[in-house]
Amino acid sequence: MHVLITGANRGIGLRLAQLYGAAGDQVTATSRRGTPSLDVTKPDDHLALARSLEGRPVDLLICNAGVYLDKGHDLATGYGSDLWAQSFAANVTGIFLTVQALLPNLRAAGSSRIAILSSQMASHTRAPGGSYIYRASKAAALNLGRNLAADLRDEGIAVGIYHPGWVQTDMGGGHADITVDEAATGLKARFDALTMENTGCFETWDGRAHPY
Ligand code: NDP
Repeated sequence: MHVLITGANRGIGLRLAQLYGAAGDQVTATSRRGTPSLDVTKPDDHLALARSLEGRPVDLLICNAGVYLDKGHDLATGYGSDLWAQSFAANVTGIFLTVQALLPNLRAAGSSRIAILSSQMASHTRAPGGSYIYRASKAAALNLGRNLAADLRDEGIAVGIYHPGWVQTDMGGGHADITVDEAATGLKARFDALTMENTGCFETWDGRAHPY
């Protein structure tokens, strides 16, 4: 199986790349400053990656790259418009451009899968306030995944959307609930269980259905 991961140079993406590699899969681990280089906000990077992978099937695309730029912001003074633009470019447009660029590769694989790293912070039923930019961008990523699942159903391409847990990474911080290994191991099991039966699912790293 050929697995392509965005943002695979650290955190959850790096651990997923290691786990798939250890399982004997072919892994294309992309990152902003690595090889192959992919800044998900840059259309030219997507074009170059698609060109370099022309004709090569991708069985599993993991859209992992993401930013959380408004952590701890104050409602009255924070959430600058530049942060909205940067966050949506990475967390929403970045996913769409990655899927669009690699559609021929996903189609070539036959029954392929797309896994989107969203967050419990995408949920509108669980809405405690704060982190407006990150929450809105992850909600948009969830929406994107649900609609891609509908459009790609007839082609046999399954799409799943995931909450990885609160994870001890640079983003999650040292006090988070679970280790990066626990998160990545759980996510890998979820991705392995993604089929046309549960396409469009929004699930946690440990296999629970997450409320929308
Ligand atoms: P980290 O901050 O540890 O890592 C983020 C990764 O995304 C890095 O590899 C980073 O690359 C990459 N990235 C950011 N922007 C871009 C870009 N424009 N193009 C390509 N790569 C980019 O985060 P985590 O590993 O914790 O998070 C992974 C995913 O899980 C994210 O989507 C996050 O929102 C989500 N998530 C994480 C949670 C947590 O508790 N940790 C909770 C819920 C969701 P670089 O080194 O170049 O910055």
